[in-house]
Amino acid sequence: MLSRDEMKVDQKPYRVDGSIYQRFPVTNQAFAIVSTRDMGEPSYLGFLEKMHKNLGTRMQQGDKGFSREENARDLGANAMNLILGSYGFPNHQFLQWKSMIVPEHLSKMPVGNSSKELTDMVKNTAKLYGSDLTGITELDEKWIYSKDMEKPFIIIDEGEPEEKEEGFYIPRSMNRAIVLAFLMDEEMIYESPELDASVATSFGYSRMGITAVSLAEYIRALGYRAIPSMNDTALSIPLAVDAGLGQLGRHGLLITPEYGSNVRLAKVLTDMPLEPDQPIDFGITEFCENCILCAEHCPPEAITQGEQTIDCNQITGNSGVKKWYIKGERCLNFWQENGASCANCIAVCPFTYGFESMQCFECKGCAERDRGCILQTNTLYRIENGYLKQERWADRGEVMIPRRRGL
Ligand code: SF4
Ligand code: SF4
Repeated sequence: MLSRDEMKVDQKPYRVDGSIYQRFPVTNQAFAIVSTRDMGEPSYLGFLEKMHKNLGTRMQQGDKGFSREENARDLGANAMNLILGSYGFPNHQFLQWKSMIVPEHLSKMPVGNSSKELTDMVKNTAKLYGSDLTGITELDEKWIYSKDMEKPFIIIDEGEPEEKEEGFYIPRSMNRAIVLAFLMDEEMIYESPELDASVATSFGYSRMGITAVSLAEYIRALGYRAIPSMNDTALSIPLAVDAGLGQLGRHGLLITPEYGSNVRLAKVLTDMPLEPDQPIDFGITEFCENCILCAEHCPPEAITQGEQTIDCNQITGNSGVKKWYIKGERCLNFWQENGASCANCIAVCPFTYGFESMQCFECKGCAERDRGCILQTNTLYRIENGYLKQERWADRGEVMIPRRRGL
């Protein structure tokens, strides 16, 4: 059985071609592309209109999984997300780049703890505030968006993190990203593409907002600067990979050793001198090469069954990283048609629920791998460490909800 320490690697587990890669603008995200096309003007969440219209039709038709009660559960789960940050816009709503409640004299007086002590303090507090996995990385500037919907993100040598008329300024001293992962309700995710999977996602977003906003105020109260962030400002998945939380899968999502891909991600950028974690490699790239479950179960065929590439031939992807590129517009158009977001690729990924012997019939990979079947190995790791319960080896595992002390 591999422990997390044995998964650590010195090199990042992906390849970037620096001659091709350029920082990515939010306006090229699928959400922005589809929304702007639908609304006829720049928009990020306009895609929701068509999705909600079809949701109403399905509720009226009495479609299974689209009842009034299920919709109410989704709206309630999404409340804190919409109040705090609406999925994430920089320096907006409660995702403020300046302190909201910490007295100014405290926010300008850094505590004298060592980096090791600060790192332990931040990780323990992130857990208290609701994070299920927390990793720290040096902030790689190439993962900061080049531009938001209207203004650029400008990296400066000195100064404060702040929004001005001409852009969002991020000083180079904000050189750490604390990446936070939140486990979603596994049973509800299995209901995808029905509304209950959307409930799990919405609640994940609400928890992201609560923890990111709270952790940013905690850091400011210790005398350092903090930018709380949901989907905005920088790309969460590469930061999570750099912070050692997991690896990128064929479906374009993070796969963690503890919870597979059933997590949502937020981050806090800071100038607190925290100790970075090492990235990990537990064999996901090799496993995904032989597994196409997510691609087979993606209703609009937005996930490729082919090889990794470095060139992405569509506007919603960003060439220069060797990976499997997702057809983002197809994915989002399916959400609109479906009347609710989809999570089929999370639900069917075997790293979400662990090894089942039936999968061996579909997978031809173990003979080709020199480390054995990483799914079996990782499932043992999860069972031994209390992340998964499995009564019998051949049965589907039950994901264990982590004990959280606080929020
Ligand atoms: S969310 Fe659904 S539609 Fe989108 S890539 Fe995953 S399986 Fe496909
Ligand atoms: S379903 Fe299979 S191919 Fe897709 S991400 Fe999970 S392990 Fe990789």
